[in-house]
Amino acid sequence: MTLPALLGGPQAFSDPLPFARPAAPPLDKVFARLAPSYDAGTLTTGPLVRELEESVANRLGVDHVVAVANCTSGLMLAIHALAPKGPVLLPSFTFSASAHAISWNAIDTRFAECDRATFQLDLEDASTRTEGIGAIMATHVFGAPCSPLETERLAARANVPLIFDAAHGFGATHDGRAIGTFGDVEVFSMSPTKPLVAGEGGLVATNRAEIAEKVRLGRDYGNPGNYNTRFVGLNARLSELHAAVALCSLDAIDEHLEKRRALASRYITNLVDVPGIATQAVDPFDTHTWKDFTISVNPIEFGINRDALVRALRADGIDTRNYFDPPVHKQHSHNQPPVDLPITDEVSSRVVSLPLYRDLNDNMIDRISGVIVSVHEHADQLTSSLT
Ligand SMILES: *Cc1c(COP(=O)(O)O)cnc(C)c1O
Repeated sequence: MTLPALLGGPQAFSDPLPFARPAAPPLDKVFARLAPSYDAGTLTTGPLVRELEESVANRLGVDHVVAVANCTSGLMLAIHALAPKGPVLLPSFTFSASAHAISWNAIDTRFAECDRATFQLDLEDASTRTEGIGAIMATHVFGAPCSPLETERLAARANVPLIFDAAHGFGATHDGRAIGTFGDVEVFSMSPTKPLVAGEGGLVATNRAEIAEKVRLGRDYGNPGNYNTRFVGLNARLSELHAAVALCSLDAIDEHLEKRRALASRYITNLVDVPGIATQAVDPFDTHTWKDFTISVNPIEFGINRDALVRALRADGIDTRNYFDPPVHKQHSHNQPPVDLPITDEVSSRVVSLPLYRDLNDNMIDRISGVIVSVHEHADQLTSSLT
């Protein structure tokens, strides 16, 4: 067994391995797609944006898709359209933008716990926190569906609208049904590290015409066309340039997701028997995008904690991210009033996301996994060398 580089072994990657690389489509295809709009002088919200909206609506099987400048503004506008009459209940184990979108609407956040195995909103804990809420927002964490039908039932019992932060979820399915079709509205991201790539961009998917209409108005200042704005909107338009990238990315999305799933199952096979390492638990009837491949490190069973594993991986030339740590309720932006979420704190302290992208191959996944196994087997030596 090779020694971890931190103990003097040869580096697994002498050329450091980046954490992520965008699955950007070939530039010549983007140029060809963009040319008609560009030459006609239509640089934003033109035929390519409409084509993207229609293609995505058809693919998902949803009535309305509105393309926006990014997922954050899509969430802001979707919440505005839902007009919650109380705090929005959401997991703290999510990306900050989920909570920011609520706060920018001058609506309070109410954080709930996540599940230790799935990392998703803990619906049982959430059901104890619904008093007086105005809406629920759940995230499909790392691209795995977050039990959307059960979440719908929770929202129905609380009699509030439901929004999904589907930033990670383009291409995922629950029981054969596409993510994007659940709740009142779902919002995808097309930023560089998300499954569908536009560079920057978001997609708001809904079966409710009035929500689609409000988001459509809201992305254009709230201007219905006569410059007499109906409400305080944003400029959240998607440019034709970004739509061209997104359309080319959409052409290859199934191939791209297949590759991600193959790499993820290789990690799972390699890591399943490593004591103290847990991969994300996924419902067997769901398909995942693996936007992030996140493991949880039990420091007692693994022999060393997450932070030490991260240092060892870095020494071996492997870049990682602690998604999501700190959890949102511990961030300066959202920690007032303080809320106690011990399970979320524990999960956040244990997670680390490993590299997973199109340009990796099985051999690279095996080498990354090999370092993790070696770190476990040399945990005692590492502990003494790190203290
Ligand atoms: C990336 C991300 C967002 C924000 O998406 P943008 O397109 O960058 O605005 C929101 N929520 C989650 C969970 C994300 O990962």
